[in-house]
Amino acid sequence: MKIICIGRNYVEHAKELNNPLPEVPIFFLKPETALLQKKQPFFYPEFSEDIHYETEIVLKIKKVGKHIQEKFAHTYYDEIGLGIDLTARDLQSNCKKKGLPWEIAKGFDGSAPLGKFINKSEFENINDLRFSLKVNGEIRQDGNTKDMIFSFDKIIAYVSQFLTLKIGDLIFTGTPEGVGPIKIGDHFEAFIEDKRMLEIDIK
Ligand code: MG
Repeated sequence: MKIICIGRNYVEHAKELNNPLPEVPIFFLKPETALLQKKQPFFYPEFSEDIHYETEIVLKIKKVGKHIQEKFAHTYYDEIGLGIDLTARDLQSNCKKKGLPWEIAKGFDGSAPLGKFINKSEFENINDLRFSLKVNGEIRQDGNTKDMIFSFDKIIAYVSQFLTLKIGDLIFTGTPEGVGPIKIGDHFEAFIEDKRMLEIDIK
């Protein structure tokens, strides 16, 4: 199983980090050991002093596919959920400056907290879906999938040219603006529309 993450997929988020807008989806991988499930806490590691939250809609792949056409991409996932792409921003900035890969900043243990999944048929239109993050009860991120640069189906078509998608693979589809640092003691709750999908404590 692999975790595929899309970067810079929301205009306002790309701008807040002074990144140019991508012409094709940018993706990177996290290993399976990055997953943090079932309300497990995240323990702040010693190697970073600036870990950020990025709240993202996650697709769960349900059948094997390669070179998937955009028009068929929707048949490759039924369930959607929320995840947090935890990012060691200090390490990532250093990697970017030196032109190095990002794994050290993106793939560490526990860097992919994942909530529950819901069948996409429960939502009227997954391409116009509000999702949000509360930290200690206060709204920090409030996005809508209609603001994605690349739709879920475009992402699947693009990524599957390079990587065979397998059952159970997860795709983190990018974060809206409002990313920021996590602190020990924080309590995170994330929602799709009004459904609470994910909860996590930072320890
Ligand atoms: Mg991200």
